[in-house]
Amino acid sequence: MFIFTDMKIKKLYFALVFIFISFLNLHSKPYVIIVSFDGFRWDYLNRNITPNLNEILNDGVHALSLRPSFPSKTFPNHISILTGMYPDNHGIISNNIKNIFNGKRYRIGNNKSVTEPEWYQGEFFWETAERNGIKTASYFWPGSEISDTLRSPNKVKPYEHNFPFINRIDTVVSWLKLPIQERPQFITLYFHETDSKGHDFGTESDEINEAIALVDSLAGYLFKQIQELPIKDSVNILFVSDHGMQNIDKNKIVNVEELISQYKYDLVDSGPLMQIFPNSENDKENIYAELKRNEKHFKAYLKNELPDYYHFGKHPLIAPIVLIADYEAYLVNNRISKRNYDLSAATHGYAKDHINMHGIFIANGPAFNKGMKTGTIWNIDIYPLLCELFKITPRSNIDGKIDRIRFILNNE
Ligand code: AMP
Ligand code: ZN
Ligand code: ZN
Repeated sequence: MFIFTDMKIKKLYFALVFIFISFLNLHSKPYVIIVSFDGFRWDYLNRNITPNLNEILNDGVHALSLRPSFPSKTFPNHISILTGMYPDNHGIISNNIKNIFNGKRYRIGNNKSVTEPEWYQGEFFWETAERNGIKTASYFWPGSEISDTLRSPNKVKPYEHNFPFINRIDTVVSWLKLPIQERPQFITLYFHETDSKGHDFGTESDEINEAIALVDSLAGYLFKQIQELPIKDSVNILFVSDHGMQNIDKNKIVNVEELISQYKYDLVDSGPLMQIFPNSENDKENIYAELKRNEKHFKAYLKNELPDYYHFGKHPLIAPIVLIADYEAYLVNNRISKRNYDLSAATHGYAKDHINMHGIFIANGPAFNKGMKTGTIWNIDIYPLLCELFKITPRSNIDGKIDRIRFILNNE
């Protein structure tokens, strides 16, 4: 006969308590889905073509705009959103980086370089979450493909630009139906459509309006699917964008190489931000002097003179000379100039306080206030917000501050 000793009863008791606490823990944690519509400008919501998003925001928190970090480009800002750091600190200072010390390049179109952990100096929210026992998954997000399992989401999809949008949503919803032990509690989702159509056709085109309406219908589809889940009352959704969009003024295009052709240098990037790596100290002085004399439609800075306002200039991989285009202006190199300035209609990358560089911020779910309209929110504050939602401690070396954003949370 099986006899319970005191010791055995105690062990059984502790095991039951442990199982009960784990169960409570799994059930009391919220779910958070963050959806990014690339290049969705803050005011696209006012065009009367976004019925779904407007309904979702009326039932949650809607910020006037989401301020990006400089440069207002895709990779730097998606990574600011999920690390709480300015690009100067998380290391993805541009979509295109040159490491002057070892000659390596980071390019968003280069599938291998975006997986290399050495470029990323920030801690993504999914890493903070996993250390705290929270499961995470990503249906695309810049930086999610980092090839270090400790630093990436539990589930990752390698970026596939043309993968059907609806299928992305269906997969995310299927993740939310997994058994509780496997179900992710934090999920990212990304769609490029509004960025692509904004670049190609401009911010006032029929094509961008179609793209806005399309992503709005995706938001509606996702929201409806979630409302049908048994866990619907614990799901919080954030709709954000990385930056806005601005039509380029074709009269403000500057071929920088024409101004400095007699010197030796390497150029990185074109558009609102251009970085110059001079070949020598002498070239640096001459190039800078020449550019200062011709400062029309842009400003030239030595790296260590960049105004604090940009939060850009301390990272070791930023070039010795940085050019920042005026609003609507565009900096090009000889190669683009030879194509007869065949540029896109609109772009982004300009200073973070130009309102048209701002994106959207909508939050809906049990953790958020209802029917709340706020002023502009900063994208570096989203990482500490996510930590607060899950009641976990953020990294202490971030730029974001929970105190700037806590007021959107429902304290009940
Ligand atoms: P940009 O407008 O140059 O700042 O970048 C926008 C582009 O980033 C989009 O058209 C996407 O193709 C690309 N992109 C977004 N996420 C990823 C990713 N995870 N991996 C590679 N490319 C991406
Ligand atoms: Zn973008
Ligand atoms: Zn873009």
